Amino acid sequence: PVTDPDADAATRADDRGHVFHSWSAQSRIDPVPVAGGLGVRFFDDAGRSYLDFGSQLVNLNLGHGHPDLVAAIKTQADRLATIQPSFASDVRGTLARLIVERAGAGFSHVFFTNGGTEANEHALRMARLHTGRHKVLSTYRSYHGATAGSITLTGEPRRWGSEPGIPGVVHFSGPYPYRSPFHATSPEQETERALAHLSDVVTFEGPHTVAAIVLETVVGTNGVLVPPPGYLEGVRELCDRWGILLVADEVMVGFGRLGSWFGIQRFGATPDLITFAKGVNSGYVPLGGVVIPPAVVETFAERAYPGGLTYSGHPLACAAGVASIGVIERDDVLGHVRRLETEVFAPELTALADRHPVVGEVRGLGAFWAIELVRDRETRTPLVPFNAAGADLAPMLEIGAACRARGVWPFLAGNRIHVAPPLISTADEIREGLAAIDAALSEADAKL
Ligand code: PLP
Repeated sequence: PVTDPDADAATRADDRGHVFHSWSAQSRIDPVPVAGGLGVRFFDDAGRSYLDFGSQLVNLNLGHGHPDLVAAIKTQADRLATIQPSFASDVRGTLARLIVERAGAGFSHVFFTNGGTEANEHALRMARLHTGRHKVLSTYRSYHGATAGSITLTGEPRRWGSEPGIPGVVHFSGPYPYRSPFHATSPEQETERALAHLSDVVTFEGPHTVAAIVLETVVGTNGVLVPPPGYLEGVRELCDRWGILLVADEVMVGFGRLGSWFGIQRFGATPDLITFAKGVNSGYVPLGGVVIPPAVVETFAERAYPGGLTYSGHPLACAAGVASIGVIERDDVLGHVRRLETEVFAPELTALADRHPVVGEVRGLGAFWAIELVRDRETRTPLVPFNAAGADLAPMLEIGAACRARGVWPFLAGNRIHVAPPLISTADEIREGLAAIDAALSEADAKL
């Protein structure tokens, strides 16, 4: 880190003076100026450095300043920085082929977008046009994006400001064993009851009206909710029974987060459409997309697909994507994540939960975990209330500050700490982050 207080102050002034920030009351934020990043850390101009324990927004799978990605972008910029989508481009075609090969049998094409929101927007449009049906089902406790369709699919408070949203979207409850919406007492019962509920919802909506069921393979920002055994397989069966497309939103979990190319590969179900973004190129250049099966491609064989984007398959983004897949393969990042899961995350987080009364549950897969915090383990009362206006959020704010004071930047959501460091983190770097969280939780225990 280079210390330059003037640069720090100038960045702060321009930001506060002129940048309008996402999801924020503009006068109530004070963004930290970030000057650079390297590997699992980023640093400011004031000499502070942070372990990036949330991979920014769970996109920075290969860490900051990865030399292979940076070189690929530079080389592509020299060769051809941009080209409109109706031309064929070598990097775009290569990346599409690499993605399809990793998605497995059943997929043939990729429609590229600039991010996850647009990917879901297009999956929704494709599903409607392919089936000729208009309704789309998605879960409460989900985030699918921020434009008209994807924000309507979203099943949490970020949707409220955009309501009423688009017509035809119906929400249902997905499984969440720790706070079962179905009053289940075991994961098996949760699966059974969650599937019965979904079946009821489809029955009453009219199966012939439902184009797609959209769900996050593992729910991300809304809790790292790992589906209990058999759930995704059961949803697949319901979809098959009624001719409904299953759309897996893998914007957060695609490209290695769960230790597999696509998160769904850790389960026994295959979706019809997969949406991705973030990890495809660690967000070095905005990129997302939809992985498509031949049957949907066939729908648009003679009839134009009504959608497009000036930057669909942007060469700089695709070059970073090709490089990223190359690194994941060469460095066995998927194997590394699987080893971290069993050798570091699962045992260390379980021990953390045992030590701290403030921890209600830890859960996760691969390099994607949540520590859910409670006021009382018996009643499971959340440490801070769910989105209640005027609620006292101090306990979570203090945990965030305690981690940052120890040089670790945590990802906080609701009453949870999400642990999602870059996939290239070493076991020691993860233990360093967990040690800061451990100390922060000790302070929180003392205030219970
Ligand atoms: N879907 C999921 C599961 C996400 O986590 C996100 C972003 O966090 C999105 C969609 C939206 O992606 P983007 O912000 O790239 O538009």
